[in-house]
Amino acid sequence: MGALESVKTAIVRRKLLTRKIPDGTASPLEEWIRLKVVDTCRTNKELMRRIGSHDLANMSRDDFKEYQMFMFRQQMRYAEENSAFYRDRFKKEGVRADDIVTYEDLEKVPFTFPSELAAEPMLFYAVSRTKMTREFTTTGTTGTRKSIGYTAKDLIMKVDIIAAVLKGARMTPADSIHILFPAVDEWDPSIMVAGACRIAGHRSSICSSSDISEQLRIMKENGTTFLIGLPSFIYRITTLMSSVTDLRALGIRKVISSSEPLSESMRSALERAWGCKVLDIWGMTELGLGCAIECDEQDNMHADEANLLFEVIDTDTGKHVPNGTVGELVVSTLTAEGTPIIRYRTHDLMAIFDPPCKCGSRFNIKLSKPHGRTDLQFKVGMGYKIYPLMFDDILFSFPEVVDYRLSITKGSFKDILTFSVESTDRSDGFAKKIVSSVSEIMEIADGIADDLIGTPIVDFVDIGSIKYSSAKAVKIIDMR
Ligand SMILES: [Zn+2]
Repeated sequence: MGALESVKTAIVRRKLLTRKIPDGTASPLEEWIRLKVVDTCRTNKELMRRIGSHDLANMSRDDFKEYQMFMFRQQMRYAEENSAFYRDRFKKEGVRADDIVTYEDLEKVPFTFPSELAAEPMLFYAVSRTKMTREFTTTGTTGTRKSIGYTAKDLIMKVDIIAAVLKGARMTPADSIHILFPAVDEWDPSIMVAGACRIAGHRSSICSSSDISEQLRIMKENGTTFLIGLPSFIYRITTLMSSVTDLRALGIRKVISSSEPLSESMRSALERAWGCKVLDIWGMTELGLGCAIECDEQDNMHADEANLLFEVIDTDTGKHVPNGTVGELVVSTLTAEGTPIIRYRTHDLMAIFDPPCKCGSRFNIKLSKPHGRTDLQFKVGMGYKIYPLMFDDILFSFPEVVDYRLSITKGSFKDILTFSVESTDRSDGFAKKIVSSVSEIMEIADGIADDLIGTPIVDFVDIGSIKYSSAKAVKIIDMR
């Protein structure tokens, strides 16, 4: 690192709110959110007046809601003044920021769809491209390209929240984190995580190779105590490494699963192998990494509500559903400078849970893990909906399975499901075991009974032959 770079790092590091959170704080992410509110109040008399002058050390959910609605209106005004997309949209719909006072009022604000962001990303930019410090482009899980610009202020905020999330996972300065995302030719989350670690003062290493001796060497050299990465990639490395070494002896304290849904069978297999807890993180490129993370209770994910406002809606009516009910997650940025996004339809099916949490968090909501995506469901047989997580739960409950892909083809009139499976056991007996487990999934069983789905086929492929085409694994390929 050059001298200038280290000066810059030191300057940014001083700005991080995470630094003000003492080690051992019960709920570091919630404390970070509280500090952010206190910090915002300091320069904003109007917000201070709305929350009232009482002690922010014991901030309630009601106080916090004032912050969120205040920030939403401010972000909406900012978007209207600076982003061509929102200037047109709000004018056309005749909606004004001042009319949005309560959470229920949010329903008056039009949605933003991923297809709109993909079609004209530059229309969303609220500052000129020359003022963007970084632009992230992704093809995501569904193949549509989206571009998001971050200013320096946005990036510092992201670094801060990633640092807070790692603190929430109980990472200390003594820990070293090993970053495991497959190497792909697009935005690489590894760089962002490594950058955040560097600024926050954590040691990190990156390895995107499937070569297990290389992975093992780097982990040992760096004294790795934390792992973060794509669960299917970590799982692959874990399965291959367990056959040559006792992973528990490496002293890994925590595994963090990011960017892809984590099935419970995969979680327990990883926890058994490494002898530590596996925590799930949720985020998306449009909103940045680390939007929500589980605490040690592993009971849904605490959300970054300082920078984002979350709603869950009924996909058909577009109206709010009660907390605890699964629907489509809608997210708005509250502090974005480069690319404000208002009421973004994420397509992730999730639920919001009210505080408190057993970890000690008092006012911060939690999000369920995604129950699938509205745009990643495939209909088979008589319109039965299938999605990747339902197969993850079955396939990854077999320790022999390293990874798999499912392709759907059309027979004469039946849908044919073919599983290409990388497995350490390639016997006919094991193939039969997989087929019978998959056939027990209700949607598949019904389809087979109705003669609309053929008996599933298992095709063993060489270990290492399944390739990653994006930073997220595309598990189901519809070839009909
Ligand atoms: Zn908690």
